[in-house]
Amino acid sequence: MSIDSRSTDDLIRPNHADQALVTNESTLSNALENNQFALFYQPQIDLPTGEVVGFEGLLRWRHPEYGVKLPDSFIATAEQTGQIAQLTHLVIDTGFKFIEKLNPELSFSLNISSQCIRDNHLVDTLDSCCNAFHIDPHRVVLEFTEKAALENPVHAEDILGQLKTNGFRLGIDDSGTGYTDMPDLGKMHFSELKIDKSLVTTMETSSKSRKSIISTIALADSLGIATIAEGIENNLEAIGLRELGCQFGQGYYFARPMDEADTLRWLENWNKSSSFMI
Ligand code: C2E
Ligand code: MG
Ligand code: MG
Repeated sequence: MSIDSRSTDDLIRPNHADQALVTNESTLSNALENNQFALFYQPQIDLPTGEVVGFEGLLRWRHPEYGVKLPDSFIATAEQTGQIAQLTHLVIDTGFKFIEKLNPELSFSLNISSQCIRDNHLVDTLDSCCNAFHIDPHRVVLEFTEKAALENPVHAEDILGQLKTNGFRLGIDDSGTGYTDMPDLGKMHFSELKIDKSLVTTMETSSKSRKSIISTIALADSLGIATIAEGIENNLEAIGLRELGCQFGQGYYFARPMDEADTLRWLENWNKSSSFMI
């Protein structure tokens, strides 16, 4: 199989040669220059109805020698070198171009590193890409980690306020991992909260995880914030979360992250099949 035919995470296998992968400023520059970064998409599902509501964009590095590399192997370096700004721009550009072709009801979520909160160009880049691709900012969900938003609260408050004023939706990515002060999040304009996959994976076996999910959903409800569970791998988890009142879900049970062509095929099949039961 050639590297380029690997189009979903199903086909991405750990590779022993990975140990030789060097990730530094120069290899990342080279990868950027040679268009080796690709955006994969994972669908988000309305748990009560089974309808697709949007996609999260997840970066992949199509390395000519080592195959498709996951963000764990390059995001931290890109954050240290400052190249995360270029990568985020690429995600915005690629993702907006992609959703322009889809039903305007569908949203697009993207991950924003804490460094980007300090990037004065972020708001302008988002605004100008919305204009260029005719995207209503309300379709765009900017996912921040709890830590990122709370690390530098005064600056975060300012930039998140601007983004919210300009129509973007703001989400917290790794909720339940220890930082959330929910009333603060409500004040900071968040409209969506992601339940971390570490809680979803253990919800059937750990009463602590289950309780944490229940209290997160209750608090989010009281603040008018939507909840989306990530890392759903089976229908027990999907049904359990729906019964606990979690509105949206994302995970391998529905689909792995896919390249653009596979995403379009997946979407067509999903919309056609009326038999899928959550
Ligand atoms: P995240 O934003 O929390 O993304 C969810 C991660 O869970 C993704 O890993 C996704 O592939 C994985 N996942 C989805 N469903 C399942 C499931 O059912 N089971 C399991 N075990 N995993 C599932 P991925 O793509 O490796 O991304 C890891 C992290 O890298 C992301 O976590 C995000 O923090 C970061 N990342 C990805 N793309 C970007 C980007 O464009 N910019 C920035 N700043 N960070 C990114
Ligand atoms: Mg995310
Ligand atoms: Mg997450």
